Amino acid sequence: MAEAKMHQVADEIRSRWPSVEGIAIVQRVGRLFPQTPTVLIVCTAAHRDTGVFEAARYGIDRLKEIVPVWKKEVSPDGEFWWKANIFPSPGNKKPFCLQAETGMSFPGVFCSNCGGAYPKDGVPYRCSNCGGLYDFRDGYQFDPTQVERSQPGIWRFRHTFGLPPYLAPVTLGEGDTPLLWVEALGRRVALKCEFLNPSALLKTAVRQVSTTWLKSRGVTEAVEDSSGNAGASLAAYAARAGNQGANIYT
Ligand SMILES: [Zn+2]
Repeated sequence: MAEAKMHQVADEIRSRWPSVEGIAIVQRVGRLFPQTPTVLIVCTAAHRDTGVFEAARYGIDRLKEIVPVWKKEVSPDGEFWWKANIFPSPGNKKPFCLQAETGMSFPGVFCSNCGGAYPKDGVPYRCSNCGGLYDFRDGYQFDPTQVERSQPGIWRFRHTFGLPPYLAPVTLGEGDTPLLWVEALGRRVALKCEFLNPSALLKTAVRQVSTTWLKSRGVTEAVEDSSGNAGASLAAYAARAGNQGANIYT
């Protein structure tokens, strides 16, 4: 992925500055120390006033923008954390639709007995061909370049949900809750403050997606067995969708 994006950067430079004759992009990998140069971009041209400096500057900016380079930073006392530097832009993404990519109505779900695909309509819990149960066979793949940072909260990861692209999310305006960094068990840990969502419920994320999916299938009533967040979140999001949600306390 990173090498493909580096080729894309080179192609973009060539298309913008035809005077550039040679391009070299080097990204160092492996164990590196602070202050160590990690990226080198070289552009050559017959004359220095033909945009070659601008081309190199464009290349480094674009590299930081679209080339997925993840690094593990290690402190002197052994503490470590991961950092990703992907900031997708319209030029970085291609239109993506899981259904179109796979040609399936609900990609990844098949009858565990006969292998039949999940139907386009309704919410069957058994296969109409053989009576078998459905199950996930192929997990959805996370693709960092498909993350839509312009979307709120969990919807930036929509490409992994298997929802039709035209479907509007059922939402209460949640998401983007803050991270609270703390020291715990000798590590630096980020706590996600999901209780700050409008519903004050920690199962907000999964309920947005499941309620949106149920709505897409024409479901107007739902029942959940729960003694806490799952049931309360079902009631909240079902109401938002204009449907009925009931909670059976267990
Ligand atoms: Zn079957």
